[in-house]
Amino acid sequence: MPRGRDISIDLEVPFKDAIFGTTRTVLIAKVTTCDICHGNGSKPGTELETCKVCNGAGQVHETRNSILGQFTSVRPCVACDGVGKIPKEKCSECRGHGVKRREVEMKITIPAGIDNGEMIRMPQQGEAVKTGIAGDLYVKIHVKPHATFRRDGSNLLMDLPVKMTDALLGTTVTIETLEGKVLEVKIPPMKKAEEHLRVAGKGIPADGARRGDLIIRLEVALPHKLSSAVKKVVEDLKSEGL
Ligand SMILES: [Zn+2]
Ligand SMILES: [Zn+2]
Repeated sequence: MPRGRDISIDLEVPFKDAIFGTTRTVLIAKVTTCDICHGNGSKPGTELETCKVCNGAGQVHETRNSILGQFTSVRPCVACDGVGKIPKEKCSECRGHGVKRREVEMKITIPAGIDNGEMIRMPQQGEAVKTGIAGDLYVKIHVKPHATFRRDGSNLLMDLPVKMTDALLGTTVTIETLEGKVLEVKIPPMKKAEEHLRVAGKGIPADGARRGDLIIRLEVALPHKLSSAVKKVVEDLKSEGL
């Protein structure tokens, strides 16, 4: 059975849509089944007649003579595209081909958690052929980077600068999650200049699996300039052995 051509397209999606999933409508130029004759190639209201070339068999036998004897092979009839019938009057829209190239609106479902470079396969959404099955449509996903969040497997990562005093004493901050929700996060006194804080279940949703975590990379932001008063305090700290 003949099969239509596969089509592949590239689709750029915002970071958030790739994480939570979305649907997109795209316009694709492709060979599709003629919507006037529904693919049989005949003018609406007219009939099909038996193909005279193959007598309705849809295939023709070819006999070849060679020095080793006679060979018979079978191939699909070209006159009727293997159907066995031909239109009495051809469809004016597709000129009897049954298929036509046109622009089609395609709805593409982007599953939650899709990663950059992943491919979505849509079976039989590629190019049609008169008799046979349509090819497949492949959609390659390009995820746009986000200003705040990045992805690490099933986890979401973000950086959060922490003031030196907050790092030493601990604090509570509010952050905005990727969903746009305000989240209160308690930062305990830090022991290193860089620490990771894990907020369970705020990462990448996964089908049938536990949702990943949000990992906040805390980094102590040191002051750029010290006033003389602050410098005095720091020198006191120094004498404390800090
Ligand atoms: Zn047609
Ligand atoms: Zn035929």
